[in-house]
Amino acid sequence: TLPQHCPPDVEALGRATWSFLHATAAYYPTRPTTHQRANMLNLIHALPVLYPCTHCAADFGDKLKEHPPDVSSRERLSKWFCERHNEVNEKLGKEMFDCAKVDERWKDGPPDGSCD
Ligand code: FAD
Repeated sequence: TLPQHCPPDVEALGRATWSFLHATAAYYPTRPTTHQRANMLNLIHALPVLYPCTHCAADFGDKLKEHPPDVSSRERLSKWFCERHNEVNEKLGKEMFDCAKVDERWKDGPPDGSCD
């Protein structure tokens, strides 16, 4: 890992981006308005165009076509991001994440209160 004052490499950029995306999904409304849905779709569809890791962006764009985003609720969106992240995990030979634990990881923290 590079020191924090260095420009982010693919790993640091990925960690920061997944934190942003999963946390944003965790706080997305249960019943989003049309405006909120449209903005979430814009955010997701901007990634293949703008994400500053070209091959990551291209692969993510392909996955988007295979699995159109479900922006209809907080729960569905969180699951959708978890599944897309797991596809990248699989590609990189990393462990699969249990999507039942997505709220614990990104919203509520573990039941033992160790993150409070
Ligand atoms: P990350 O994978 O960054 O995960 C951070 C934390 O999220 C984990 O510690 C875990 O607590 C949690 N987590 C893990 N999986 C899930 C999940 N499925 N759902 C919810 N939470 C989870 N890197 C490449 O080398 N090649 C690529 O093609 C590539 N494509 C990417 C595409 C996108 C859209 C993004 C955002 C990142 C991409 N990356 C890619 C970066 C890669 O996914 C990792 O972020 C990077 O390798 C650092 O991995 P990490 O092991 O630190 O944890």
